[in-house]
Amino acid sequence: MMSVEEAQERMLAIIQPLPPITVALAEAAGLVLAEEITAEEDLPPFANSAMDGYALRSVDTRMEGGRPARLRVIGTIAAGYVAEQAIEPGTAMRIMTGAPVPRGADAVIQIELTRSDPADEGWVEILQEVAPGNNIRAAGEDIRRGQLVLSQGSEIGPWEIGVLATVGRARVKVFRRPRVAIVSTGDEIIDVGEPLQPGKIRNSNGYLLEAAVRRAGAEPQRLGVARDTEESLRQIFSQAMQYDLIITSGGVSVGEFDLVKRIMHEQGAIDFWQINMRPGKPLAFGRIGSVPLLGLPGNPVSAAVTFELFGRPLIRKLLGHRHLRRPQVEVTVEDGVSERTPRRHYVRARVRWEEGRFVARTTGQQGSHITTSLLNANALVIVPEGGHTLKPGEKAQALMLDWPEE
Ligand code: AMP
Ligand code: MG
Repeated sequence: MMSVEEAQERMLAIIQPLPPITVALAEAAGLVLAEEITAEEDLPPFANSAMDGYALRSVDTRMEGGRPARLRVIGTIAAGYVAEQAIEPGTAMRIMTGAPVPRGADAVIQIELTRSDPADEGWVEILQEVAPGNNIRAAGEDIRRGQLVLSQGSEIGPWEIGVLATVGRARVKVFRRPRVAIVSTGDEIIDVGEPLQPGKIRNSNGYLLEAAVRRAGAEPQRLGVARDTEESLRQIFSQAMQYDLIITSGGVSVGEFDLVKRIMHEQGAIDFWQINMRPGKPLAFGRIGSVPLLGLPGNPVSAAVTFELFGRPLIRKLLGHRHLRRPQVEVTVEDGVSERTPRRHYVRARVRWEEGRFVARTTGQQGSHITTSLLNANALVIVPEGGHTLKPGEKAQALMLDWPEE
């Protein structure tokens, strides 16, 4: 049996990011940058005021005999406008936050440190001495022209969008969002809106995986349920081949009707792996034509857990991300795990921070058909291979499903 890490390595070595495309800035949110962003201008582009106040020469703020300096006010500069006049000795200009500092001025004093007579706005008294540069935001203080601002592989969130807008990038090159076909399989599977019939169960995987694929950053498309016949699978795979990735559930174990492997073999290539993990031992990886296919097990919990361990990193690689795996942290397992299994056990749990440590509580019964064990879980507590148990209060590693990849 193969370890989870080895299977991940093999899979990720084959998958490459999708070709870059250029999109409008607003469309780039949630995608990964496929180019280096270098500033073509200084930011701020010009020295400007950090305060509403008066632009002046700092030497003119010196007090003589404890008396405030008195300066002649020669105009006002609002944000968005450039002063025509320069500051001469003994003069000042009203200036607003963000307005360019006029020639001749080397400081701004905030309005609160001045006094003026409403009846005579031609003069202002300066109540405090200020040093050169006071309240001036220098050109290039944030970003220098020619500076690397964002590197290829950066994830574009709201803050990156803000910086890209600042440096004038109306369009950016990003890795395209993968389109993922989701195929459920099984003669027993009926759709969610249908009443139960003898021997049938509702398709939970199709919907679960659709939501999980979307959360991973890709664009899912549910293609429905293939019957357990070769014709039905061939037909659904002929549609699925137009996508960037195919994810199936069911039909990959060793049963008589587990046909996904057979069709992969016929129409592409297949690696079939027995992974040393529970839930979710059987996993198929390969391709249909040239489209990669990840064949997840049919049990809903197995499908969910193997998606997190294999499907999500794979989608992130297609998206161009550099960080593909969820972080692990040491937790104290409050209630313990008494079930023994020779395989590595990924136990669904809720991890919380309490009194200076992470504490995990498992979500109850852990069978791979117990869908409710997924509810409220934000982590997978890892019980190492070899039939270990965890006593209440023992420590273990947990894979944090709601922490960003690193
Ligand atoms: P299989 O791998 O096809 O043998 O399926 C393993 C188990 O998962 C069986 O009990 C199936 O009924 C169940 N199963 C397969 N696909 C789905 C699905 N889409 N939704 C819910 N259960 C499923
Ligand atoms: Mg089946």
